[in-house]
Amino acid sequence: MVLTKEILEHIEANSQEALDLLMELGKIPAPSNHEEKRAAFCKEWLEKQGAKGVYIDEALNVVYPVGNVESGPLVVFMAHTDVVFPDTEELPMRVEGNRLYCPGIGDDTIHVVAMLMAAKYIAQNNLVPKNVGMLIVANAGEEGLGNLKGCKKIFEKYGDRVTEFVTFDGPFGPQATRGKLAAIAVGSKRYKIEIDTEGGHSYSMFGNRNAIAYMASLIDTLYQIKVPTRGRTTFNVGLISGGTSVNTIAQHAEMLYEFRSDNREDLAEMEEHLNAALAFYATKGIKVTTTIVGNRPCGIEVDAERHNALITRTQATVEKHFGFVPTTGSASTDCNIPLSMGIPSVEVSCGRGGGAHTREEFIEIDSQLPGIKLAFELILHHM
Ligand SMILES: [Zn+2]
Repeated sequence: MVLTKEILEHIEANSQEALDLLMELGKIPAPSNHEEKRAAFCKEWLEKQGAKGVYIDEALNVVYPVGNVESGPLVVFMAHTDVVFPDTEELPMRVEGNRLYCPGIGDDTIHVVAMLMAAKYIAQNNLVPKNVGMLIVANAGEEGLGNLKGCKKIFEKYGDRVTEFVTFDGPFGPQATRGKLAAIAVGSKRYKIEIDTEGGHSYSMFGNRNAIAYMASLIDTLYQIKVPTRGRTTFNVGLISGGTSVNTIAQHAEMLYEFRSDNREDLAEMEEHLNAALAFYATKGIKVTTTIVGNRPCGIEVDAERHNALITRTQATVEKHFGFVPTTGSASTDCNIPLSMGIPSVEVSCGRGGGAHTREEFIEIDSQLPGIKLAFELILHHM
């Protein structure tokens, strides 16, 4: 189904409702792993529009099944409800000219709303996709510590039947005249590394091993690597802590370390380097404990013809509504899961904005309407 004049008129006529919905949903706190309130709101809202069979699963995904999802191929559309902010109170929101400021408003609330507006149209017109089932999912757990939990849950249940996956995520930049689609997965591994020693009094026990000194040395060793270059590979130590007081030889130190790559062999090489470093420090009579706190796979071979068809269709839709053809690139998103299973997937933006993952995050209000049209067109393509 293409966007007819009637559908475009419907979208325009509902633009105020969409903005109101964005302002209401955007204030509801939804830290990763605690999306209960947003999930309940989305389910109730969908039901009010006449959507049947909507449910919230164990991962806190809100799932709206459209057509036959019991057997046969499936297409999946997602936008995530969680935000990176730990707030449990209403998120602060303000309007300044064409900008709507609120933590999480672009990543990813504006996208959830675009998808919900399309879902409403489907429910009200009893639309059913042709030759395929559809899942419209306001998913949980996309951000850092959510570790793609919501998406993983959907693919655990429906995995091998999914033939196409689209996630609406991360706006184009302010006043954007160019942008990116993510169609290549960046994998990552994240670790908590702890070092424990005997420690002791800094004067009377001088000479005992100091956990902070060993941690500093380990970090230095990790930074000695020249990263492999089959793909784009990066690493980071993002947080360290440890010790007791100025006159205590530190007994404990810990850090968070990650590496990322869009190439599997590079990821494996980074892991080998880490393991070798850990083994080396473990021989020094100190206790080294490693806990994996995040693991996102990168992609495997995806059927090029079907993947390109999806990318080309998505690019054309962006061009139609935002006036430019986005390039394709890599990112760490919900696409990682289907791409790791060889399923054609793309991440696309439904708006413009900036300041993602900061409390000064905003969207451009006049980008909401083209974003909704974009979501409608991609979803209704299957009707
Ligand atoms: Zn996001």
